[in-house]
Amino acid sequence: MYEKLGIMTETEELINNTEKEIESIFKEVDKTAEYNSIKVLNAFQKYKLSDVHFTSTTGYGYDDIGRECVENIFADVLGAEDALVRTQIVSGTHALTVALFAFLRPGDIMLSIAGKPYDTLDTVIGIEDNQSSLKSYGINYEQIDLIDNGFDVKRVVDRVSKGDIKLVHIQRSRGYALRETISIQQLENIISEIRKVNNEVIIMIDNCYCEFVEKSTPLDVGADIIVGSLIKNLGGGIATNGGYIAGRKDLVEFAGERLTSPGQGKEVGPTNGANKMFLQGLYFAPSVVASSLKTAILASAVLEKLGYKVTPRYNAHRSDIVQTIEFGNSEDMINYCIGIQSGSAVNAHCTPVPSDMPGYADKIIMASGSFTQGSSIELSCDGPIRPPFVAFMQGGLTYEYGKIGVMKAINALKNK
Ligand SMILES: *Cc1c(COP(=O)(O)O)cnc(C)c1O
Repeated sequence: MYEKLGIMTETEELINNTEKEIESIFKEVDKTAEYNSIKVLNAFQKYKLSDVHFTSTTGYGYDDIGRECVENIFADVLGAEDALVRTQIVSGTHALTVALFAFLRPGDIMLSIAGKPYDTLDTVIGIEDNQSSLKSYGINYEQIDLIDNGFDVKRVVDRVSKGDIKLVHIQRSRGYALRETISIQQLENIISEIRKVNNEVIIMIDNCYCEFVEKSTPLDVGADIIVGSLIKNLGGGIATNGGYIAGRKDLVEFAGERLTSPGQGKEVGPTNGANKMFLQGLYFAPSVVASSLKTAILASAVLEKLGYKVTPRYNAHRSDIVQTIEFGNSEDMINYCIGIQSGSAVNAHCTPVPSDMPGYADKIIMASGSFTQGSSIELSCDGPIRPPFVAFMQGGLTYEYGKIGVMKAINALKNK
């Protein structure tokens, strides 16, 4: 069967042998998935999820009991007082934008304490000039970089103790930056330090790629609001679009008023048939996240054997689903991405080519053969073509397909 896929015996043996060596790590991943599945099932039962919740509203979307049930369930699973879970949120960037514009007012200061946020927020914040940025509304931005993959605790505490910061922004996953992901433990530590000197500041977390990777959520350890995309972890590969904003009730209300309009807020927003896909996606999500993690762990172990520098290592604690592989040269990086694409369900016959993208200085290569456009809970691999030639791989709806994708990629790497 592997031969049918063009996989060499050598690759097949390497991967199957490695898989045996990492069985105990997979078991840990499964335990977390089981824990999070219990959380999801409990929430479904607590809110008496029923067929009626799968119906749909159109137009204004008044009195959508399905939407209310979806949001109650997401809030419960995430440890939130309330949540906004909507198809009208078009992406993770949009969810973050809605939240930032909802909480910040002219003259306020936003402080990022995990270095520069995700690239697409440059124009939102006004780090890169834009006529509609937060900066254009007189909202200021400050940043404290990470040191040694951790928070610069002293600088953060000093800065927030002055009392003039409105919002602290913490991005957990790394984007295209070469740093480690921020764990729940690290979040718990920094939040408790911040709270010793400042009880007012809003602590907002970009939680993209981190949902269900650990047992706790940022809200469990004191964050005020968390934000993410449903074409990543929480959508379970079922949600075809959408995003969420969850946490303190008053903040979710602000976000609702920004997403729709002041006065209408969360009360409007038709679901157009999305309720079932959101709930079914959430139902699958713990298991899909586990499949993604196992795919990443397998790739990490195999690529390390082949001499590449990988982060995280196969046996390291993980807080997101992203695996980085440092190829050291563009040829290997491109071949690996071509291999991932060739193992996809959709567009496997296409060859990814590095190309220019708006907002990036270097050419970017993107391997993605996903059912949902741009979905990165489905196996995908991408990165800027610049030294040290690092690819960012994530996703895998099932471990079996993830493993086959990694096999195809390793095969392409060896077959160059
Ligand atoms: C993906 C991602 C975003 C943006 O999400 P989009 O849906 O691509 O707009 C923001 N922050 C982080 C950390 C991400 O991984």
